[in-house]
Amino acid sequence: MRILVVEDEPILRAQLVDGLQAAGYVSDTADNGIDAHFLGDTEAYDAVLLDLGLPRMDGLSVLKKWRAAGHTMPVLILTARDGWHEKVSGIDAGADDYLSKPFHMEELLARLRALIRRAGGHACAELCCGPLCIDTRNSRATVDGQALLLTSHEYRVLAYLMHHRDQVVSRSELIEHIYAQDFDRDSNTVEVFIARLRKKLPPGLIETVRGLGYRLSAPQ
Ligand code: CA
Repeated sequence: MRILVVEDEPILRAQLVDGLQAAGYVSDTADNGIDAHFLGDTEAYDAVLLDLGLPRMDGLSVLKKWRAAGHTMPVLILTARDGWHEKVSGIDAGADDYLSKPFHMEELLARLRALIRRAGGHACAELCCGPLCIDTRNSRATVDGQALLLTSHEYRVLAYLMHHRDQVVSRSELIEHIYAQDFDRDSNTVEVFIARLRKKLPPGLIETVRGLGYRLSAPQ
């Protein structure tokens, strides 16, 4: 899962990136509204953390522009303490949730998981497909209750497929959601991760849809 972090305060931005990375996400960052708007407009994100008080263009305007352009990614706004009017305008502008500063990283991660889940139409933190389950709270995967040892990249590929189970996911879509923007993206690596996952998973879970991509679904 790939997250856009928009925050102009360097220390908080670094904390957010570290916290996200520790939780298994990749992230891109922007420290002003213009860059944030451009990234959200042109790149694929599973969710955005958006500070409202930003140089060059305020967060609310960024959000309104995204929504007006039809971008539906979940957006969690970061507001000043007691900024209730900011929360109201943020939600009216299309934010999905908010968090007041200062906040606990654990709470931010829980809200983020919920947003990503809901965007994929899932109501609970554990996603299952046949014998395979992932717990999005701790990035663990199990098959028939037995823990599965996965690298962080393998988990990201699997988590993305689980959030989009029964749908065909193209190779390029997977690449966009498992790597940060500045990473050297090579579509062959997706095939390698899929091949490794298949060795670890029960047969038939990940199907190749010729010319289109991959589909994760419970074997019949
Ligand atoms: Ca700020």
